[in-house]
Amino acid sequence: MLRCVLTIGALLLSVSSPFAAEKAVEARHGLVVCVSPPAADVGLEVLKQGGNAVDATVATAFAMAVTYPAAGNIGGGGFMVVHPPQGSPVVFEYRETAPASATKDMYAKDSERLGHKVSGVPGTVRGMELAHKKFGKLAWKDVVMPAVKLAEEGFILDARLAGSLNSFVGGSSAFPEARRVFGKDGGEADWKAGDRFVQKDLGWALRQIAEQGPDAFYKGAVADKLVAEMKAGGGLITKADLAAYRANERKPIHGTFRGHDVYAPPPPSSGGVCLIEMLNILENFDLKKQGRYSPATLHLMIEAMRRAYYDRARFLGDPAFTKVPEYLTTKEHARKLAQQIDRDKATKSEDLARELKLAPEGDSTTHFSVIDKDGMAVANTYTLEHSYGSRVVVRGAGFILNNEMVDFNWRPGVTDRTGAIGTEANQIAPGKRMLSSQTPTIVARNGKVLLVTGSPGSRTIINTSLCMVLNVVEFEMDIRAAVDAPRLHHQWFPDEVRFEGWTEHRESVEKLRAMGHVMTGVRQGDAHSIWVDPKTGIYHGAEDRRINGKAAGY
Ligand code: GLU
Repeated sequence: MLRCVLTIGALLLSVSSPFAAEKAVEARHGLVVCVSPPAADVGLEVLKQGGNAVDATVATAFAMAVTYPAAGNIGGGGFMVVHPPQGSPVVFEYRETAPASATKDMYAKDSERLGHKVSGVPGTVRGMELAHKKFGKLAWKDVVMPAVKLAEEGFILDARLAGSLNSFVGGSSAFPEARRVFGKDGGEADWKAGDRFVQKDLGWALRQIAEQGPDAFYKGAVADKLVAEMKAGGGLITKADLAAYRANERKPIHGTFRGHDVYAPPPPSSGGVCLIEMLNILENFDLKKQGRYSPATLHLMIEAMRRAYYDRARFLGDPAFTKVPEYLTTKEHARKLAQQIDRDKATKSEDLARELKLAPEGDSTTHFSVIDKDGMAVANTYTLEHSYGSRVVVRGAGFILNNEMVDFNWRPGVTDRTGAIGTEANQIAPGKRMLSSQTPTIVARNGKVLLVTGSPGSRTIINTSLCMVLNVVEFEMDIRAAVDAPRLHHQWFPDEVRFEGWTEHRESVEKLRAMGHVMTGVRQGDAHSIWVDPKTGIYHGAEDRRINGKAAGY
């Protein structure tokens, strides 16, 4: 079953970004690596002005709401891992919640994934507020204003963003307000590289947030517009839902791999649990000796993925509503799973459990990595769920709302090969957070940050982080090579492997087939990452050439 064969080799040749640096960008004092060059510049500027990594993160996140509208957002949510120079790492979790009037089977008969009814209560603005309150050094206004300026005065489009806007505006799913706001001259799919893109309404909303504070979004003038939009389109979010929204500070999931500390988000993301579970399984084998792309290594990675994603489907959901077993991230559980792996033969996913199947997820989110002069590092991933979210733009406020409700298990109790799983852990309930795969990840050794990484790409996200950690820690690749290296994905169901190294590693592919794996070649998400040289302390930033981006450092 070959859907879309994109090999990374071919892909690298086809990408011609002015920022597609051959080598990682080196910096001594600070670095911001993200998909959007103007937003990376905003983050860098904040660092140069004396802001720390959290200030730069907040500024970059707001800037990306302007300069990367497919996934940068104020109408969505996400996860931020912060590794301070001293003290314990923390997670700021700002995942969206189901509105109070949401019901368990509200989507059981309706499979529409766009429009007003699929938005969760947005978390991004509260998440940025919480992180900034705890760690920020600069004033709130100073970290939001660069985004206001980008929206009000506009910025110059590069070819990639022009193309993305054109396909969004020209596509059939864009609603009229989205066309008006994101189209050239009020609606045309005719953007070219070099055009200036101005967003007046969004500028207004961001200015409210900058000047009145985050409450403007949850209780004030922006909230009024959001609720009016919901009423006009039959959406669920009320003023009470917005006022009740809280972001959370949480303890990261912490695991160890070959003496390194790995930190990633806890539920309601599945990212941390699955990543640590997979690393724990793989720690039982000498992958390095086998080689990065040998059939033996790839086979073990696939089998680890299969087992962790099976646990994900069974157990994971919002911890306020569902009990997540603690043993999932223990070395003992991993040892048992490792022992079950047949070294010569693929396990059939069905043999792990026949009754559960996973539903597909959308494919857009964005991750960025930041480090400052004191070694404080931030890994931030946030999303609108699909690219351009629900397609609903809040009239007068110019921002897109998420369609994150689709991350819940839509049809309770109903499981089939193509539909959503129906397990209880991730069923809809008022105020509940939908399960995520976002995996912003920080690896440290002896308290010092070594790697900051993460990715978009729905369920592939966790495996992209896994590949990055293995590439750097197990295979000791430099960061440029680690980011470029072909990635691998298996998610239990559908029972197939997606492998970017489809042509480069043809021989391994054939051997894996012979072992019983169904192999396909599909491009995986980008991982804008930072590596810190433990010997020199120099920061190395690598934007991901699968897409675009910039490593901005000084
Ligand atoms: N909504 C997804 C999640 O939180 C991410 C969407 C994507 O990256 O495609 O796991």
